[in-house]
Amino acid sequence: MNIVLLGAPGAGKGTQAAKLVEEFGTPHISTGDMLRAAVKAGTPLGKKAKSYMDAGDLVPDEVIIGLVTERLQEPDTARGFILDGFPRTSAQAVALDAELGKLERPLDAALLVDVDFEVIIGRLTSRRMCRDCGHIGSAADAVCPKCSGEMYQRDDDNETTVRNRLDVYEKSTAPLIDYYRGCDLLVSIDGDRDVDVVYADVKKALGL
Ligand SMILES: [Zn+2]
Repeated sequence: MNIVLLGAPGAGKGTQAAKLVEEFGTPHISTGDMLRAAVKAGTPLGKKAKSYMDAGDLVPDEVIIGLVTERLQEPDTARGFILDGFPRTSAQAVALDAELGKLERPLDAALLVDVDFEVIIGRLTSRRMCRDCGHIGSAADAVCPKCSGEMYQRDDDNETTVRNRLDVYEKSTAPLIDYYRGCDLLVSIDGDRDVDVVYADVKKALGL
């Protein structure tokens, strides 16, 4: 399976990716993780990326595509890949398609884990984290269920921040969803259900 994962922050696409990786061993290619790793390892692309990041600029598309195509040369991707965090815009999707075309490894699907924004806002704003052990719980936990530590709300889980993140997501990703729908690659799954029910649907939709 060659797939691109799409979904708003908090929709649960990371959870679904983890389940696919566990069951099928398909490499999960997170461009955010790869960028951080390349910068840390000081590879030529990592150095290039770092110069943009140090200047406070966005890392250009071609640098990220370079990282992705490099990663796809590694043998573990022969049976497929799950691309996460890229593309984020339709321009990036077009560029990615061109590269995958050259590698003769076109996408099989763009998988969208779809959850209503109000549901996501409810999920994220009720999230609490333990100050001591990092356990993620909910507003219903008076203290950490693991270590009895103090639970707090992270700044990026407050409602204003969550709404801003969803707004940014909506603006950049809505055209991307249209793009993949136009290519007949979009597979949309209702993510507002139990994790295992969503996963069963994901597998069915991907023909696994
Ligand atoms: Zn704890």
